[in-house]
Amino acid sequence: MNRLYCPFCGPRELEEFRFHKTLAEPGADAYEEVYARINRPTMSLEHWQHVHGCRAWLRVHRNPSDGTVREVRLVAGSDEASLSKDSTHDPA
Ligand SMILES: [Zn+2]
Repeated sequence: MNRLYCPFCGPRELEEFRFHKTLAEPGADAYEEVYARINRPTMSLEHWQHVHGCRAWLRVHRNPSDGTVREVRLVAGSDEASLSKDSTHDPA
């Protein structure tokens, strides 16, 4: 994952974004949110911010093993602006 797709700015280099935290899966109860392992090798739901761009907060659903981004959404109040962009891992 060398690039991330911002809904406002388009595809941008990963250096423009800052990772914030890994999120619990949707529908998880309070126990799971605290105790369940959320950083799985094949699926991760994370908050990122486009700090060197529009500063939007993004919810990124990705596969950490191969760097594939399955979905990028705006956080809080902008759920309608969902975009799906594949970003394949480029080992270069
Ligand atoms: Zn942006």
